[in-house]
Amino acid sequence: MIIDGKALSLSLKEDMKARMAELENKYGRRPCLSVIIVGDNPASRSYVRGKIKAAEFVGMESRLIELPQDVSEGALLSKISELNADEKVDGILVQLPLPEHIDEDKVIDAIAVAKDVDGFHPSNVAALWLGRKCTVPCTPKGIIKMIESTGVEIAGKKAVVVGRSNIVGKPVAKLLLDRNATVTIAHSRTKDLAAVCREADILVAAVGRPKMITADMVKPGAVVIDVGINRVADGTLVGDVDFGPASELAGYISPVPGGVGPMTITMLMENTIECFLSKSPVGNV
Ligand code: NDP
Repeated sequence: MIIDGKALSLSLKEDMKARMAELENKYGRRPCLSVIIVGDNPASRSYVRGKIKAAEFVGMESRLIELPQDVSEGALLSKISELNADEKVDGILVQLPLPEHIDEDKVIDAIAVAKDVDGFHPSNVAALWLGRKCTVPCTPKGIIKMIESTGVEIAGKKAVVVGRSNIVGKPVAKLLLDRNATVTIAHSRTKDLAAVCREADILVAAVGRPKMITADMVKPGAVVIDVGINRVADGTLVGDVDFGPASELAGYISPVPGGVGPMTITMLMENTIECFLSKSPVGNV
């Protein structure tokens, strides 16, 4: 069974679209997402276009702020503080990566926690690990919805997450733990990765290496979520999982493209609405 992230995200976006008028009636305005992009990295531009398009689809306000590649760190930080102070802005997203002369940590720290729709601010990360109310980062949140969409119970299952980044691997492992899976986080130093993966009832691949999860690493019947986005020599996009052979063994598997990618953007819309409804998710900004 294919986990169709595109279809799932479309149905969630339709629901949000239907709620927009109601939110506007109740609060006098619609949620507003501000996206800042620095420079003209083609991949970043394409991600940002997708985010603005999704905001338009669901009928929320959006602002795109385009800054030149050589913008100073100070100028970027003052743009962020301007948006922090703007009561009509609910969510602020700074597209990463940033040029080398800008300290990404400083930029993430500068975003008001209440408007941190990516869930990358240290206060949100701490709240997630403490099990407190927080903005959950978009990709991990989307992955959990995809697993839940299969109807497979997470509690009591063995979950293996391959990759330990701050934006995918670690937070998705915590969300699986919260749902009572027994979680293993694998990485580049894991010994006998294939054997570790074969144990997984739920396997999440977030590595960034084309087709590295081969069929022999998949337990028959497992739920397999492929987070990877890799552009290969012929220009096509492939995931971290060798989809064809792996899909013959998996019980449920997500494709690339059309899997986690659209869900990530949809969760950004959801997080913006949540920030709009609750100006201070962790209560301190
Ligand atoms: P990172 O590069 O930050 O992390 C990759 C992880 O994979 C690291 O923890 C690394 O281990 C691990 N790794 C690398 N090589 C191996 C190996 N041979 N065996 C086991 N583990 C390995 O990547 P991200 O988490 O940011 O992204 C992962 C993938 O997901 C990328 O393709 C990215 O494009 C995609 N992505 C997709 C999104 C979407 O919306 N669909 C959103 C975000 C990311 P170690 O820590 O030991 O170095």
